Amino acid sequence: MDRIKKNFAFFKKCHAYETALELMEEGKFRHFGISFHDKTEVLEQILNEYPQIEVVQIQFNYADYDDPAVESRKCYEVCRKFGKPVIVMEPVKGGNLANLPQNAKSILEELHGGSPASYAIRFAAGFEGIMMVLSGMSDMAQMQDNISFMKEFQPLSDEELAAVRKVQEIFQSMNLIPCTSCRYCVAGCPKNISIPDLFAVMNTKQIYHDWNADYYYNVVHTGGEKGKASDCIKCGKCEKACPQHLAIRDLLKDVAGEFEKK
Ligand code: SF4
Ligand code: SF4
Repeated sequence: MDRIKKNFAFFKKCHAYETALELMEEGKFRHFGISFHDKTEVLEQILNEYPQIEVVQIQFNYADYDDPAVESRKCYEVCRKFGKPVIVMEPVKGGNLANLPQNAKSILEELHGGSPASYAIRFAAGFEGIMMVLSGMSDMAQMQDNISFMKEFQPLSDEELAAVRKVQEIFQSMNLIPCTSCRYCVAGCPKNISIPDLFAVMNTKQIYHDWNADYYYNVVHTGGEKGKASDCIKCGKCEKACPQHLAIRDLLKDVAGEFEKK
């Protein structure tokens, strides 16, 4: 059985959808939606089998738009095909599109103002059928920024879209690890490796050639109770939990090669 068929068989075996539908019939909730992280074919199967699903939440941002692992665009197109409104998660890709490398940041600065996050959120919100964009905000300034451009929302202009396309190209050329820092992988790791933090320092080094990344690797994110990338015993538990389907074991090998070389 291929992975997609196996995944769907697993969902069915759990009776998750049937249970949710029963609860809805009992009046426990009024609207039925799913949050989705998988290949487009699985989404098609789910929406075919469960037409009662009213809304779908997908990861959707300009960096993942055509990413083969995330398939933002393709998932969005499936939602449109089935007439399902879309809730966007990760519009700024775990903060990565708010903290751009300088060459990408300069492209957006040449426009007429607006934070890097504003372009990412407006990109996502500008598509037909987008019902809501969930942006994780961690302080008052981010909230005020979001409100400032979403209050009287304008989709990106052609000029802004062209600039975002250039930023997309820069990201594609950097070969970054597409980790969203959801941390689903961390709890089950027997070596207590802080996987998303190690991926973040790897990306930071790649983007900014930042010597501080070594400090963060050696002092902040490893040592004491926290395992190093090379402590990985390749049990694979983390990969089962990763909604981005990252080859975490191989990536940790790269991280160890970068930060633990003598
Ligand atoms: S494969 Fe490595 S990183 Fe993943 S859970 Fe096992 S020990 Fe931890
Ligand atoms: S589960 Fe995957 S995407 Fe989430 S933090 Fe871990 S490696 Fe990153």
